[in-house]
Amino acid sequence: MRILTGDRPTGRLHLGHYVGSLKNRVRLQDSYECFFIIADLHMLTTRPEKEAVAAITSNAREMVLDYLAAGIDPQRSVIYLQSAVPEIYELNLFLEMLVTVPRLQRLPSLKDMARNANLSEMPFGLLGYPVLQSADILLPRAHLVPVGKDNEAHVELTREIARRFNNLYGEVFPVPDVLIGDVPTLVGTDGGAKMSKSLNNAIYLSDDARTVEKKVRGMYTDPKRISADVPGTVEGNPVFVYHDIFNADTEQVNDLKQRYRTGTVGDVEVKEKLALAINTFLDPLRERREHFATQKGLVDLVIHEGTMRMRDEARETLVAARRAMGLSGVWNSIRRKAEEAGKRRDA
Ligand code: ATP
Ligand code: MG
Repeated sequence: MRILTGDRPTGRLHLGHYVGSLKNRVRLQDSYECFFIIADLHMLTTRPEKEAVAAITSNAREMVLDYLAAGIDPQRSVIYLQSAVPEIYELNLFLEMLVTVPRLQRLPSLKDMARNANLSEMPFGLLGYPVLQSADILLPRAHLVPVGKDNEAHVELTREIARRFNNLYGEVFPVPDVLIGDVPTLVGTDGGAKMSKSLNNAIYLSDDARTVEKKVRGMYTDPKRISADVPGTVEGNPVFVYHDIFNADTEQVNDLKQRYRTGTVGDVEVKEKLALAINTFLDPLRERREHFATQKGLVDLVIHEGTMRMRDEARETLVAARRAMGLSGVWNSIRRKAEEAGKRRDA
């Protein structure tokens, strides 16, 4: 059984990526064959400029270091660069024929992306983003896709496309299942709906302890609480959302919540304890990051080997897809006849 998931190389990974998807990847690498995509072509949908392309190389390296820091084993996982696998462009085109424009336009994620990228009109490629994502998932013929909540609808689309392909041409693709992390969407430090690279509300896996302290100190809490003796709201309060996720000391968390509700603890103490908890959580990741970062060229080797391995898989899938569609038959028939005619002409 196989997993496919990944991230766009637009920057470093944050706690949202971790709880939404990375944690599941690490957990499942014993039971699944894992394919992790560095989705650089997806970045082009909103950032096609040359400067953005130029940043891919270093972003990809940082991102893979984040993977390894989080506990992904480079010996077992296939980590590959999307743009270096030619078959993805081809499969994407086949799948584009199996989906309608209104079906894509109904996806809320696309409108969000266009808005976040300050695009007034929808680029053709951005509309096709979920189709390309379907091609990413179907190329290694994955069975399971661990992603955050915001990507759930895209996996649903992939299932539809896989079924449609199989119905039209015969069984080539498994219909993949989605796996959402135990925190479907992590809130940002600003209390915004989603922690995101582009919203400046993220705590990165590679942040040092001082940076975490600073970010936590500046976190949004209950705005009605102007001093420590005012009873506060715990539910939905980002500091407590984070405490619940990252603080392993549940007794301490319960005590802080109780005192917060009765106005007997200050925000400062709640935040100091939270920063400590997040730093305790991140310490082993920092150690592993350091361990892998000091091995010169290791990350490039991992990406190179993964990409070569993925190319083999991709070739096999495309042979199967073309054969099922009957496209290879068209070319084979013409080639055979041409060879015969060529021989007759030369004779
Ligand atoms: P960002 O949203 O920070 O700009 P991105 O959109 O570039 O990041 P993606 O490549 O879309 O990142 O997401 C990678 C994976 O991480 C996806 O599975 C996505 O669902 C998940 N993810 C991203 N942000 C969060 C979050 N705040 N909470 C939970 N999961 C998240
Ligand atoms: Mg996203």
